Amino acid sequence: MAAFGRSNILAVCFPVLLALLFQNTHRDSVLEGVPSGKTRVLDLSYAINDKLVPWPGDERFFEATVNARVEKNGYFTRSFWMLEHYGTHLDAPAHFPPGKTTVDQIPVKQLFGPAVVIDVRAESGKNSDYQLAAARIENWEKRHGRIPEGAIVLLRTGWASRWPDVRKYRNQDEKGKMHFPGFSPQAAKLLIERKVSGLGCDTLSIDHGASSDYAVHHLALGAGLYQLENLADLSELPEAGAFLIVAPIKLEGGSGGPVRIFALLP
Ligand SMILES: [Zn+2]
Repeated sequence: MAAFGRSNILAVCFPVLLALLFQNTHRDSVLEGVPSGKTRVLDLSYAINDKLVPWPGDERFFEATVNARVEKNGYFTRSFWMLEHYGTHLDAPAHFPPGKTTVDQIPVKQLFGPAVVIDVRAESGKNSDYQLAAARIENWEKRHGRIPEGAIVLLRTGWASRWPDVRKYRNQDEKGKMHFPGFSPQAAKLLIERKVSGLGCDTLSIDHGASSDYAVHHLALGAGLYQLENLADLSELPEAGAFLIVAPIKLEGGSGGPVRIFALLP
């Protein structure tokens, strides 16, 4: 189209360029603001000790032994033993479907991504068996735009306020069945379609507590997503705009393992 002259192209391109530039400067300054304290960083991981909430049936989960003391040896060291799935941890795809990625093989770029926070504290407060409806994700998208590829989707249930009280956090009935909220298979399917990198929650499991088939585990891990469980308090995270750095232990062949998760606030 000859009539669409150079100045018109400039008029269209310039604002786009400006937006891109601004975005880059903004992102750089978010990272640069970390050491100076301008950018707030939330640590979404619990410190590891022997008093966290283990999965029912796990009787041995963490032990630390002092091997050397400053007074005796001139230096201090310990050795420790723990389950891969204890405290704030990552489930690698290999946790359920055989032949999938182990924790050391997760591509590094999947460990960085924008945080999508779905707040279901109201629903979870009324119903401990609440499962995230796909409509709630669509509702998030109406307000913040389509969930970007590579996002990490966190379910904020408010369950962290019960941590580390074993009885309240597991919320088991008289038959031993647990009751806490989680993702639904329909929600997981939608998020897999969006090509997100991982799912996370502030409860013991991505699947709701009463689940016996772990349908979301099968779906999400089967699609190559990883899962973050027992996340610490998510109440300070905005629904959109934070950026996550997920740093799991690089344990060769591991089904998962302890993970340190940082959220950079906008
Ligand atoms: Zn796990």
